[in-house]
Amino acid sequence: MHNAQPTASHFIHGAYVEDSAGDVIDCIYAASGEKIAQVHAATPAVIERALASADSAKAEWAALTGTERGRILRRAADILRARNHDLSVLETLDTGKPYSETSVADATSGADALEYFGGLAGSLTGEHIQLGDDFVYTMREPLGLCVGIGAWNYPTQIACWKAAPALACGNTMVFKPSETTPLCALKVAEILVEAGAPPGVFNVVQGAGTVGAALVGDPRVAKVSLTGSVPTGRKIYAAAAADMKHVTMELGGKSPLVVFEDADIEDAVSGAILGNFYSTGQVCSNGTRVFVQRSIRATFVARLIERLKTVTMGDPLDAATTYGPMVSERQMKIVQGFIAKGIEGGATLAHGGSRVERPGFWLEPTVFTDVTDDMTIAKDEIFGPVLSVLDFDTEAEVLARANATDYGLAAGVFTNDLTRAHRMVKGFQAGTCYINTYNLAPVEAPFGGVKQSGVGRENSKEAIHHYSQVRSVYVGMGPVEAPF
Ligand code: NAD
Repeated sequence: MHNAQPTASHFIHGAYVEDSAGDVIDCIYAASGEKIAQVHAATPAVIERALASADSAKAEWAALTGTERGRILRRAADILRARNHDLSVLETLDTGKPYSETSVADATSGADALEYFGGLAGSLTGEHIQLGDDFVYTMREPLGLCVGIGAWNYPTQIACWKAAPALACGNTMVFKPSETTPLCALKVAEILVEAGAPPGVFNVVQGAGTVGAALVGDPRVAKVSLTGSVPTGRKIYAAAAADMKHVTMELGGKSPLVVFEDADIEDAVSGAILGNFYSTGQVCSNGTRVFVQRSIRATFVARLIERLKTVTMGDPLDAATTYGPMVSERQMKIVQGFIAKGIEGGATLAHGGSRVERPGFWLEPTVFTDVTDDMTIAKDEIFGPVLSVLDFDTEAEVLARANATDYGLAAGVFTNDLTRAHRMVKGFQAGTCYINTYNLAPVEAPFGGVKQSGVGRENSKEAIHHYSQVRSVYVGMGPVEAPF
């Protein structure tokens, strides 16, 4: 039996807060199906308390120097790293992802963001624009109260990727984790306070879409940053438009991964594995449409399947386990539905496809071949461990087919032809591109999508533009001339 019960459901104004009048949200450990905790969804009173707290904290927080804010974020990064083991265990319990992943990709990635934006906070400046004797100076200022809304695949990372740039710029935040994974963000809030963040600077409230919608609709909120699906993104973007709120939308994808015949096959197979089966395929930027040039297709598929047979399923808390369950029964059923559609649609099930006979929500890593562009599995985001192999002949053909989607989050190419690699990435309609690797997302690099996959960028200096605004101040140095 695992127990991950948090101190209370919400974290508001520097302390845990409970209101048992809110609907019960059960936390189910995906690897066993057992209940490991429960939280309550935020009631209107809790939502108001969180918004009022973040609103009241924003002036004092914005008045600190960037260096002072940054010091707190960097201290929080150090605490995350020092507690990596415990936080990784919690991330595993919250999501089902194996410890072999969570111990290197979640609290560590969150810490990277806090450290990076903590370091940047002291260097956020405006500019000076000389206009003869007159001049303009600009000030980079915070937006104010920001709302963060998370998906369930990376609960610690998503909380930190939003909190770090928001707080570095002098904003405060109310964050709502996914109702599927409510536990990890509470720890981020606790650690920020321990690191010195004043009460109200970062708050966490629980709940499903209705709680998210209440936060987004509040007139005190200046900006909303969502990590989630395209349909949710549309609703939130539309709601934010009512008050002209700023938005960042990190949404879904159906990204292409193109493997040319001159590629290093072993590396390309590694890229396809990282881009389809890491976190059991529950990654937004996954390269789920794997276009393989016809001449190497058989070799590629054979090697891919050989390597998938070495997946280690087992207790996710065992460091030897390399592959975990789906996050929830619901998500498992959605993915099973897509696998059925792949078979019905005429694709060849080359590997996996079945539920694994063990407690919890386990699905085999699955590979379809003979997939064509019009099949549902080639068009819809599956968000699970399902890789589709599509054959192609020429560069022009594959580029057109790679781009024939409403999504545009990521795209990758494996080739040893230098100029072709750069031609391909220039041609891809995607915000995040890869040459001879896949799915790396370091904090130093901008991350985000084009087309329906999103608006704005997370990480890197780019994120600063999405959590601050510029004030322009014209200074007249001479007599004022007026026409009458
Ligand atoms: P989802 O859209 O169902 O939910 C996302 C969040 O939005 C949840 O916290 C949910 O409670 C909240 N929400 C739902 N309706 C809302 C509303 N009307 N108003 C306000 N909030 C609302 O997504 P999910 O199932 O949690 O996550 C999977 C999706 O997220 C996939 O499409 C995936 O591609 C995407 N994703 C994108 C990224 C990225 O960075 N681009 C990263 C991870 C996941």
